[in-house]
Amino acid sequence: MNKRLSLLALAGWFCILLFAQQSEKNYTVIVSLDGFRWDYAEMYETPHLDRIAARGVKATMLPSYPASTFPNHYTLATGLVPDHHGIVNNSFWDPVTQLRYSMGDSLTRNNPDYYLGEPIWITAQKQGVSTGITYWVGSDIPIKGVFPDSYLFYDNSNLLSYEERIDRTLAFLERPEEERPGLIMMYMEEPDGVGHRSGPVSEQTGQVVQYLDSLMGVLKDRIDALPIAGRVNLIVTSDHGMADINTERVVDMDLYLKPEWCEVIDGRAPTSVFSKPGYRDSIYLALKDVPHIQVWKKEEIPAELNYGTSDRIGDIVIAPDTGWQFTDRPSTSKGAHGFSPFSPEMQVIFRAYGPDFKEGYKSGTFVNVDIYPLLAWLLRITPEQTDGRFERVKQMIKFPID
Ligand code: AMP
Ligand code: ZN
Ligand code: ZN
Repeated sequence: MNKRLSLLALAGWFCILLFAQQSEKNYTVIVSLDGFRWDYAEMYETPHLDRIAARGVKATMLPSYPASTFPNHYTLATGLVPDHHGIVNNSFWDPVTQLRYSMGDSLTRNNPDYYLGEPIWITAQKQGVSTGITYWVGSDIPIKGVFPDSYLFYDNSNLLSYEERIDRTLAFLERPEEERPGLIMMYMEEPDGVGHRSGPVSEQTGQVVQYLDSLMGVLKDRIDALPIAGRVNLIVTSDHGMADINTERVVDMDLYLKPEWCEVIDGRAPTSVFSKPGYRDSIYLALKDVPHIQVWKKEEIPAELNYGTSDRIGDIVIAPDTGWQFTDRPSTSKGAHGFSPFSPEMQVIFRAYGPDFKEGYKSGTFVNVDIYPLLAWLLRITPEQTDGRFERVKQMIKFPID
């Protein structure tokens, strides 16, 4: 009898322990390396990213249109395509405020009214998961009146070094349990900068990629050395890729677009035109047969680009072919982005490992709106309705819920 009782007690404890273990919180760290094209990890030596892939998941991810920094970081945060979250390009004309929003202009960049949808840090905080963010687009702006629990203002003249950003992430993870953020997000500007300056296929880009790879190795090893190592999921990904450009592949805007037809012309890759009354067809007809660009009436933009309902997009949109420029001021850079997400040059790296990810798993391609529901799943919170779908990424998860 006694023996039976103690066996029962033991079984009871086992259940409690199992329950405690299952309800133990996991931590999620997501790193964005700006402009890290998916095949940099094939072209250049990336032993540390390869180590992450061997222990976790490796995939290629499609950006949303247009493949630029602000639209895509905000898509990663909200699960909405740029057409729905409002940051439709790095700069755009807003007919409501009659202002040109630009990521480089602090007045418009810092105005929360431009940022629609709900970033993951707000969804998390509403459900009791605290957040620690380093420089993610939108994280220093009071969107819906809310800041992340910890964030830093993005001040171009006084930014933390990459090493300091890693220290900050580790400091979050080393905090006592009650103060430890469940969601940690970190941004780095490279290899976008070098990709623009030197082109995606260049020795200089290779060197920066290798440096970033070694930093990811440091991050991984420091996470692995923590007492909570087995409870940290790490994702390394990016906003868009990089394509070769040169001053030969230019379509001269001035040859086709007459200023008297246009109220506003803004953005490159793509260019948005708000036509003057009565001139829309003139603009369309002038551009329709020009080689190396696509011109669309706003309502005829191909559905797969998910672009064209926001009032911040002009009534005519002009997209240069990948590697081409449609401009009156050609860039002398060697690399550019903003092109179609279906162009392989625009696609990005995705690596992830941790308790929730399968090991040594090569996943198919997926779209970056799915990051928001993936993060929500990792954080065990309920996501908002978005353009993303957990269904499309759940194959990379160790214990999918069916
Ligand atoms: P681009 O290559 O033009 O799409 O943009 C890349 C640049 O965006 C980076 O080099 C940064 O200078 C800038 N950037 C990235 N995040 C932020 C931010 N949160 N606030 C302001 N500028 C940013
Ligand atoms: Zn970028
Ligand atoms: Zn860039």
